[in-house]
Amino acid sequence: MIPIVKQTYLSTVAATERVTYRCAACAVESGAVVSGVSQGYGEAMYFVGMKQAERESADQAAAGLPAALRRSIGLAGCPKCGARDPHERRKAMWSSLFRGLLAWPWVGVPLLLIAIAGIGYAVDELTLQAIGYGAAALIPFAVFVAIAARFAYRKLAREANMLVVWDDETVG
Ligand SMILES: [Zn+2]
Repeated sequence: MIPIVKQTYLSTVAATERVTYRCAACAVESGAVVSGVSQGYGEAMYFVGMKQAERESADQAAAGLPAALRRSIGLAGCPKCGARDPHERRKAMWSSLFRGLLAWPWVGVPLLLIAIAGIGYAVDELTLQAIGYGAAALIPFAVFVAIAARFAYRKLAREANMLVVWDDETVG
């Protein structure tokens, strides 16, 4: 067996910027100092292209920085009405759903197996009752994903809150 030698690079960059945020919900403009953190990833096999992989990870991290800043301010929510930017909110919800699917696999995987078994049973039998059982077997997994996604979303929102300092907050 040939061992696979893989070198991975992870770059993290952070930036802080002064911005003016215009709320889409109440149209109030607020000044803020916002921070964003972006990560990039590069990979080299058998020590080939290590320099390039390192550069790739750094480039990727730098390229993601504007989006990271937009996410911070968009998810922090308007200081006047509390509304989050709809676009950033939607993006955060999708990524939370994805994180929810991967969260706590020792709970999620057994529930997923139950759901798959239930669907398999429903497809095999194809009676109304079997379809009812199949649907019922889906519920624990769906509830689990919903809870995990909500948890992930709140974490994202909380992180965004910490990365934004509104002008009003610095006074007093
Ligand atoms: Zn607002």
